[in-house]
Amino acid sequence: MTSDIEAQLRAVSLRVTRPRVAVLAALRDHPHVDTDTVIALVRADHPTISHQAVYDVLRALTDTGLVRRIQPARATARYESRVGDNHHHVVCRSCGAIADVECAVGHAPCLTASNDHGFVVEEAEVVYWGVCPSCATERTS
Ligand SMILES: [Zn+2]
Ligand SMILES: [Zn+2]
Repeated sequence: MTSDIEAQLRAVSLRVTRPRVAVLAALRDHPHVDTDTVIALVRADHPTISHQAVYDVLRALTDTGLVRRIQPARATARYESRVGDNHHHVVCRSCGAIADVECAVGHAPCLTASNDHGFVVEEAEVVYWGVCPSCATERTS
């Protein structure tokens, strides 16, 4: 399990360090968490890893593309280790819960903009806003 995390780090020429492995492992088990949650998860298993170390690792992993930073409007930034597949997110307006949404049917058709205005499109970011099942239940009861 940690060995393929180590392989991921080596693939982007990052040295394998305990904080980097810990952050990637935390994100693999807990997608779409904010910085404070990453810190709590990492420090639960590795109390000696500092807050600053986690911040630094998140930045290094985001810069090298191993981690994706998502920032829905009006929400705090979240991180996930599922990268490179152009997937989208559905966000609950009420509690901020986030779930993955596969790209609309087929192979990233949203990359084919109806009018690209001459831009070379590389990525499409779609955020679906709504109400999650547990907030919806709360509203009706
Ligand atoms: Zn909700
Ligand atoms: Zn995601």
